[in-house]
Amino acid sequence: MAQIIDGKAIAQQVRDGLREEVAQLQEKHGFTPGLAVVLVGDDPASHVYVRNKKKACEEVGVASFSHELPGDTTEADLLALIDQLNADPKVNGILVQMPVPKQIDDKKVIEAIHPSKDADGFHPYNVGRLATGDPTYMPCTPWGVMKLLEEDGVDPKGKKAVVIGRSNIVGKPQAMMLIAASATVTVCHSRTADLAAECRQADILIAAVGRAKMVKKDWIKPGAVVIDVGMNRDENGKLCGDVDFAECQEVASAITPVPRGVGPMTIAMLLKNTVEGAKRAHGVA
Ligand code: NDP
Repeated sequence: MAQIIDGKAIAQQVRDGLREEVAQLQEKHGFTPGLAVVLVGDDPASHVYVRNKKKACEEVGVASFSHELPGDTTEADLLALIDQLNADPKVNGILVQMPVPKQIDDKKVIEAIHPSKDADGFHPYNVGRLATGDPTYMPCTPWGVMKLLEEDGVDPKGKKAVVIGRSNIVGKPQAMMLIAASATVTVCHSRTADLAAECRQADILIAAVGRAKMVKKDWIKPGAVVIDVGMNRDENGKLCGDVDFAECQEVASAITPVPRGVGPMTIAMLLKNTVEGAKRAHGVA
């Protein structure tokens, strides 16, 4: 049976470390890292995410600045708010909760956030830095996956890694991070000819698809490490991942559950991005 990688506990360790670091920054350098969280509209899931992010900020001592705008906010008004936050020295990270309403172009929003405050790591400047092997802000979810591997003692160097999914927020940056860690990487997607065969090659398999329990036991190479980014609802409405956990844990050497796997890492790494951004802004190494 696979060892279960406890994302909740690892995320808590990251947060504990950040709490100490924030206290030291306040004491020795006299500043508090700040994260602005912008929510447009009243999508219930987005409200939950934003509430959790604010709570996590409070827990580690990061100041959070919340901006909740009505669903009919214009693109110009949102861009004006982002400009204001770009100029605010108390704000080190800016996060606009996606998705934004239809009348707003999300690409324009991502590009309006100053690269030095890009807490999500989605700005093309930061994507470019990651691609060229000199990362500054890294997208939180794939960075959280790398941290899980590290904490579990899994060194990707020389291993065959397969990523299912090629989105800008998970799959692509995940592949870049694994390349930087010297894995040999295959990226699969909806047009991959034989997905199961690709997955069976993987020493490290990362699923970021959005399809409940799609990855089956016979897709897993015995002894592989399986990381499940997916967040879906099963036929009973219960939260589940992209991996059929019950059967895949019989073959893998280590596996993340859903919930308590990758999810908690995303928020922990968002806080880490904010703290690192604040240190850069204040010239603290
Ligand atoms: P996207 O929908 O943007 O991307 C999904 C990817 O999966 C696409 O590249 C798509 O291929 C591929 N795909 C879809 N169907 C198949 C299939 N049948 N076979 C192979 N590949 C397929 O999703 P995200 O990357 O944003 O998110 C992926 C999952 O991760 C979701 O469940 C999401 O909820 C979860 N998530 C979890 C986070 C966390 O904190 N735990 C954070 C972010 C996301 P193609 O490009 O060809 O369409």
